[in-house]
Amino acid sequence: MKEYLKTAFGVDDKVTSFCDDVLSEISDRLKNADENAEYNQLKVLAAFQKEKISAEHLTGSTGYGYDDAGRDTLEKVYADIFETEDALVRPQIVSGTHAINLALSGNLRPGDELMSPVGKPYDTMDEIIGIRDCSGSLKEYGVSYRQVDLLEDGTFDYENIRKAINEKTKMVTIQRSKGYAVRPSLILDRIGELISFIKKIKPDVICMVDNCYGEFVERKEPTQVGADIIAGSLIKNPGGGIAPCGGYIAGRKDLVENAAYRLTSPGLGKEVGATLGVNEKFYQGLFLSPVVTASALKTAVFAAAVYEKLGFECVPDSRSERTDIIQAVELKTPEGLLAFCEGIQAAAPVDSYVRPVADDMPGYDSKVVMAAGAFVQGSSIELSADGPMREPYAAYFQGGLTWPHGKLGIMKSIQCLYEKGLISLQG
Ligand SMILES: *Cc1c(COP(=O)(O)O)cnc(C)c1O
Repeated sequence: MKEYLKTAFGVDDKVTSFCDDVLSEISDRLKNADENAEYNQLKVLAAFQKEKISAEHLTGSTGYGYDDAGRDTLEKVYADIFETEDALVRPQIVSGTHAINLALSGNLRPGDELMSPVGKPYDTMDEIIGIRDCSGSLKEYGVSYRQVDLLEDGTFDYENIRKAINEKTKMVTIQRSKGYAVRPSLILDRIGELISFIKKIKPDVICMVDNCYGEFVERKEPTQVGADIIAGSLIKNPGGGIAPCGGYIAGRKDLVENAAYRLTSPGLGKEVGATLGVNEKFYQGLFLSPVVTASALKTAVFAAAVYEKLGFECVPDSRSERTDIIQAVELKTPEGLLAFCEGIQAAAPVDSYVRPVADDMPGYDSKVVMAAGAFVQGSSIELSADGPMREPYAAYFQGGLTWPHGKLGIMKSIQCLYEKGLISLQG
C-alpha cells in the first residue's frame, strides 16, 4: 500500500507512516461510526421492505405528475425512517435553503413570530427571515423574528428563551449543524432538552429543525426527540451522493401539507410534481446514505486527529461526540489553507488536475478558496473544502463518498503542506 500510494499518488512514506499511527489511535471512533452506519442501514432497509418497494416505484412521471406511486411511496419511506406522519421529498425543492423556506413560510402567517433559540441561523436564512432585507422575506409578509444567542460556554440561555416566547411565537427554528458558525453543533439529546423546555412554556409552538448535514450521523433524528418538522438537502447526506438534486421535509401531516401548498400551489399540494426519472436515484441514494455518511464522518474524525497532532486547532476536536459531518481545520496561514485545498482537489475523481486559487465571492468580504471535484455540482456529501482567506485561515470541509477516498484526500492535503515546508513530520 505504501509503495502504491507513493508511485500512484505521490504520497511520501513519512506521510503514510504518520497517518497510519493516527489511524490506530482513532480505531474506536471509526468503529463507532461503522456501527452507527450498520444500525441506520438496517433502519433504511426496514422502511423499504415495509413499504414493499418494487420495480414500478423506480420509474417516474411527466407532466402534472399525478399518481406517481414511486414519489408517494418514497415519501412514506422517509416518514418511516424519521418516524413522522408525512414527508415531502422532491426534485423541485432546489436546495436545503429552499426546503427550510418552505417549512417556515408554509406555516407562518402575518402577525406570527419566529424565534431562534440557538443564535443566528445559517447565512442563507438571513434573506428568508428578513434579517437582511430582501423582497419576499417573512418580514415583508408581517412575520417578526426574535433570536436568543447561546451563552459563552455554548449552552442554552434558558432564561432569555423563556422571556422571548410570547403570544405571537408560532414557530421555533433550531439549527442542528453549526454550519459556518463558531458555536458547537447540537447533538440530538441537547436538541431534545431544548424542545421539551420550549414546549413546557408553550405546548403548541411548532419546533422546526434544520437537519442539514445531520442525517444518519446519530441513530436518532430530531423528529424522534420532539421536533415537529425537519428539512434538509438531498445533495448532502440523505441523497447518498446519487441524488442529482432535491430536498426534503418530514414531520406532522398538517405542517408538511402547508409546506407542499407553498411548493406547488394552495389546493394542489403534494398531488402534483413530476419526478422525471429521478425516483430511482432518490431511492438508491437513500439506501446508500448511511454508509456514505459514515465515510464522510470517518474522514472528518481522521482529519481532526491528524491535524491536531500536527498542532492545528480543529473544530470539533477528534474526541468530541458528533452530530454532523462538517469539520473545520485552522491552518493559520494563507499558504496552509491553499495547500490543504490543493491536496483535497488532487485526490478528486473529477477535475483532479485543477489547482484551486483564492478568488472574490459575492457576499464575502475576503477572497475564498474552494476545492471540489464532484459528480454532482455543488454536492457537499462528496469530498469538498472551502475557506475564506482571513484569520485563522480555516478550511471547512465535509464529505467523502467512500472512506478510502476521504482518507486519501486528507493524506494528499498533508503531503501538500509537507512539500511546502509548512509542517514537519519528525518523530
Ligand atoms: C447547507 C446548509 C443549509 C442549506 O444550504 P443549501 O446550500 O441551500 O442546500 C442550511 N443550513 C445548514 C446548517 C447547512 O449546512
